[in-house]
Amino acid sequence: MSTPEPPLALLAELTHRCPLQCPYCSNPLALEGVEGELGTEEWCRILDEAAALGAYQVHFSGGEPALRKDLPKLVRHASAAGLYTNLITSGIPLNGEKIDALAGAGLEHVQLSLQDTLPEEADRVAKMPGAHAKKLEIARCVREAGLALTINCVFHRQNLERLDAMIELAVALGAGRLEIAHVQYYGWAIENRQALLPSRDQIEKANALIADAEARLKGVLLFDHVPPDYYARRPKACMGGWGRQFLNISPSGKALPCHAAETIPDLRFDNVRERSLADIWVESDAFRRFRGTGWMPEPCGSCDRREIDWGGCRCQALMLTGDAAQADPVCELSPDHGRILQMVKNEAGQEVPPFRYRRKAN
Ligand code: SF4
Ligand code: SF4
Repeated sequence: MSTPEPPLALLAELTHRCPLQCPYCSNPLALEGVEGELGTEEWCRILDEAAALGAYQVHFSGGEPALRKDLPKLVRHASAAGLYTNLITSGIPLNGEKIDALAGAGLEHVQLSLQDTLPEEADRVAKMPGAHAKKLEIARCVREAGLALTINCVFHRQNLERLDAMIELAVALGAGRLEIAHVQYYGWAIENRQALLPSRDQIEKANALIADAEARLKGVLLFDHVPPDYYARRPKACMGGWGRQFLNISPSGKALPCHAAETIPDLRFDNVRERSLADIWVESDAFRRFRGTGWMPEPCGSCDRREIDWGGCRCQALMLTGDAAQADPVCELSPDHGRILQMVKNEAGQEVPPFRYRRKAN
């Protein structure tokens, strides 16, 4: 296999700790504890190695990365190494002073999550009273510090009716970008699929609304929208293709091709405590296993989209077919596509069950 292109970005999951308990959290069910987290010097070395490898950006993520007291130091180090720095945050542990300190350390961009536009609904999803009000205050502080702001909202059957209100709120908060995310069904979201899965009618209305807003708000707000998998005819290029653009480092140093990769049972993940990032990126079994097209069985192997979507999501293929090497069943060409249609039919119209919230040892 030829040497891969350098990764575009490092996703640095500094911690799995988080004050919120979103029922669609992409963290694994087995959350890593604080005792195993990489230390400051270890993260600094990883940031240097990522820059040397050719990565452009670092996304400080979690859990809630702002729970790490060394965040300003890590931002400063990343910035000095030449990486574009983005903080993906719930906003809860932050305040104006901390945001100013991060801006002073070289932070360039903040991606702030909102759960809804109705405070009581947002707080119910986050399972924290007052969370929404705090987030609005943090959005204001981010803009006052002169940082670029993206609002991220995960949409599902219980908040899609307020998509238009979220667009207006993002504009009012001075965000330059709105990420309209749909739930990815693995980890905690699988536990809550029936409570989250929207209907086809909701998705069609949302698509029309976004198209209209994109035209209306050109030059004001950029939209980042990927339609939800279960209503697509072809899959998306998950993580831009396995082992092609992103390197995900877990809080304890496991190097993952995507944040859900650990759901694939026979993959072995190297740890940055034992191997250099460059070595892992080029050589490790986990990154090589589904990189490129050589591993693909039919129908992907001879499909003219195989270097566009790279066969879709490996974790989704595993979850829905029992084999991570199969075509993503979201694809109409997959022999397992009928399972998706049946599952959507069974679940999307059912009564909404209560959430099973994310928490340790739930
Ligand atoms: S999705 Fe919610 S619970 Fe999970 S890390 Fe983000 S803010 Fe925390
Ligand atoms: S057959 Fe495979 S490569 Fe072709 S569109 Fe479907 S998932 Fe993508």
